[in-house]
This record gives sequence, structure tokens and C-alpha cells, in this order.
Amino acid sequence: QNVATEFDTIAAISTPPGEGGISIIRISGSKAIDAASKLYRGKDLRKVAGNTINYGHVYDPDSDEEVDEVMVSVMRAPRTYTKENIIEINCHGGIVATNRILQLILGLGVRLAKPGEFTERAFLNGRIDLSQAEAVMDLIRAKTDQSMKVALNQLDGNLSHLIANLRQDILDVLAQVEVNIDYPEYDDVETMTTKLLKEKAVEVKSEVQQLLKTAKQGKVLRDGLATAIVGHPNVGKSSILNLLLHEDKAIVTDVAGTTRDVIEEYVNVQGVPLKLVDTAGIHETNDKVEKIGVERSQKALEVADLVILVLDSSVELRDEDRKLLKQTSGMKRIVVLNKSDLTSKIDQNELQSYVDSTEIVHSSAVNPLGTKDLEERIAKLFFAGSIENSGNNIMVTNARHIGLLKQSEEALNSVLSGIEMGMPVDLLQIDMTRAWDLLGEITGDSYQDELLDQLFSQFCLGK
Ligand code: GDP
Ligand code: ZN
Repeated sequence: QNVATEFDTIAAISTPPGEGGISIIRISGSKAIDAASKLYRGKDLRKVAGNTINYGHVYDPDSDEEVDEVMVSVMRAPRTYTKENIIEINCHGGIVATNRILQLILGLGVRLAKPGEFTERAFLNGRIDLSQAEAVMDLIRAKTDQSMKVALNQLDGNLSHLIANLRQDILDVLAQVEVNIDYPEYDDVETMTTKLLKEKAVEVKSEVQQLLKTAKQGKVLRDGLATAIVGHPNVGKSSILNLLLHEDKAIVTDVAGTTRDVIEEYVNVQGVPLKLVDTAGIHETNDKVEKIGVERSQKALEVADLVILVLDSSVELRDEDRKLLKQTSGMKRIVVLNKSDLTSKIDQNELQSYVDSTEIVHSSAVNPLGTKDLEERIAKLFFAGSIENSGNNIMVTNARHIGLLKQSEEALNSVLSGIEMGMPVDLLQIDMTRAWDLLGEITGDSYQDELLDQLFSQFCLGK
């Protein structure tokens, strides 16, 4: 099964751009080993065993000039990442040598790989399905241990198996329906068939809904929770942010595939990745900047999924506080009464007219443990049902999967309402088959080329 199709041979630098300890140039395809051996002096790569790493030197075959000292990994099809022959050249991490080696390889009938093309090959050659390929990207982008676990679980194929089982169930019942239709001599064949379809539609629908229930948390784990920290100048936003950022919790990533200037900042709060919205103003220690902060918070509020509204409990409520309190009611929010180490001057009665007491957290940013309650509250908001308890630990994290699950739920609803309305079986079959198709798009059993282009172009180069 799944014999590698004949593709051209591709190569790319698989390590991040820039200087480093080592760089890795990856080549995949039937010509990979031949191409590498034309540049390499050391053992004959065409004869070495698979899964070995070999010491030698790269030479420019035209000038006979030495380019770099290298270690070359040889991995033979089909037990490789792409199911094709793979060569990985580990060279010294300079930009010049790395690029030079890549150029030399590209001169040997090897093509520069597109972003994600190695993983695309793994998919096209049947080593992994589409949801697993997507998990590879999620794994790379994972922001917390928890999000990594979910991605690994998906990469292991657990979501795929679940989907495959559901599809098999649908297929079985469709086959049974066919048989019934072929033997219409039974009196109650219509009733029997309808009953079968109904049972199965109900069953699959409930599983689909179960999956969709995990989507909300799953998506947060994968993409981070867009969070705005807002409040009047001097209430302690920067201080709270710094406490949240303490140790190595801050992860700064730039988003591949978008403008290089876009920097997204994440904080890992007890396993919940917060994607901080517009911290530029908050970072500024010079509070002159925060004069324009009001406008900024308004913008941040528009895109936030979670608002952390900070109040200074040592002073009375201001109009701006009141405005923010009113404006954020109805949003998912935590109201932080900061400076709780000082005497409280906030009118509790007035405050409670704006906020539910369950939304309030006391904190003190001068105390290293002062934001612990805040962190716990954030985590609780999102793991209320506890991730660990989500049954089989399968989570849907990906917007594409969520969309397809919703559509298949609709198709199953059509089956059920069709049965209610006494529709003929062949129409019910169409909706049932549609549910089967849609689920198949998750794993890539059916897909369109544009989808592949769009998906894999989001990968890093060399993956
Ligand atoms: P921001 O303008 O909202 O970002 O507020 P900052 O974090 O810059 O804090 C303003 C001032 O309040 C600084 O002098 C902080 O040291 C002080 N501050 C912040 N949080 C607390 C707190 O919990 N207790 C006390 N006593 N002072 C605080
Ligand atoms: Zn500040």
C-alpha cells in the first residue's frame, strides 16, 4: 500500500535562517543520494547503510574547492519522513556555506522545495493524513506543554482513527441500506432501512457533537486566547504583565506567512496560552505613552476574547474605570483589584453594581505571589471541565476541522429531519453520504489541490 509516487527531488535549508551552531540542508526524492554524493567526499553515500550519519567534506564539483566540513545523514525510502530517500547535510551554521551547499545541490537537477513541501510529500505518499500533517505545524507552533500534547495526540493519528471509525460506521449502514433496497420483497423494508439510518445518524451525530465540544478549548490551546489588559494609567498593568511574564514564560514568535514585522506575544499561564493584544503601550515604562492608551485599549477590546481590567483599589473609582467596567460587561473578563497591599478605597457597593463578585480577583504586583489568584482564575476559566477529563484526550483545535464537523453535523441533521418528514430513502442516502464525505475532508481522504497549496504554504521552509 502507498508506494511512493514518482516526484521530482526537492531540497531546502531546514534550520531557521541566520547564523547558528549548525545548519541542515534537507534533500528528498529519488535523486537525493546521487546528488549529494556528487558534492561529498567521504564514504560512498550510494553504498552506506540507511539511517547512518557520515563524516566528510563538501566540495564544489566545478572548482574542486572545499566548501565545508559536514555530517551527512542518509535515510532510505520508504521509512523516512517523506517515504522518499532523504539526505540531510549538517554543515557549520554559517549563512554563506549553507547557501552555497544548497546552490550546488540545486545545480544537480534538484528543485528548491516550497514551504511545507516535505510534509506535503509525507501526505501525498500516504505516510500521514491531512490532520496529521496539520498537527506537524501545530507542534512547531505549540505555545505551551498542553498545546504540544494535543498536537502530538493528533500527530499520533488519534483524531484520524476516530474519524475513520465514524466514516466506516456510515459506510456500513449505507451498504446495509443498499442491500435492503436490492431485496424489496420484505414487506417492511422501508421501515427497517429508515430505522437503521436513523440509529446511525443519531450515533454519529452525537460523536461529532462530542468532538465539537472540545473545539473551544482546543482552539484556545492552539491559537492562544486573545487577551487585552486594560485600565487607567498607573493602576499596575505593566507590573502585572511583568509578573505574568516572569521566568521564561514569555514566548515571542513572529507569525510565518504574514508580514515579518508582526510580532505576537504569548504568555503561558498555567497551560493556557494568552495571546496578548497590543502590549506596546503597556510595555512602555514612560507613562507619557499611556496618554494615548485610552484609544489603544478601545482597539484592543474590540479583538479580545478575554479582558483583564485592572483597577487600583487604593483609590476611588474614576469615570474612566466606570466606563471600562460598563463597556466590558458581557465580555469574558476578570476584574483585577490591584494594589491590594494598600488600604482599599474602592466603594465595594458601587463596584458590585458593575461586576459580579465571581469576576473579581485581588492582586498585588509588589508581591511576587501577588498574581497567583489571577493566574488561577485564568486557568479555571478555560479548564473548567479540565482538559485531562475530556475522555479520550482528543481535541479538535483546527478551524478547518471545526468547520467540517459542523457541516457534517448539519448533513446528519438533514438525514434525521428527512426521516421525520418521510422522505424517500435515496434522498436520505445522499445526506448520509455527504456526512461521510465531509468527515473525509478532515483526514484528507477527499481534498482539493487548492486546499493543499493553502495549507502547506503556511509551513516553514524546509519542513
Ligand atoms: P500601569 O501604568 O497601569 O502600567 O501601572 P504600572 O505597572 O506602571 O504601575 C504604576 C505604579 O504603581 C508603579 O510605581 C508601581 O510600582 C506601582 N504598583 C503597581 N502595582 C502595585 C501594587 O500592587 N501595589 C503597590 N503598592 N504598588 C503598585
Ligand atoms: Zn504602564
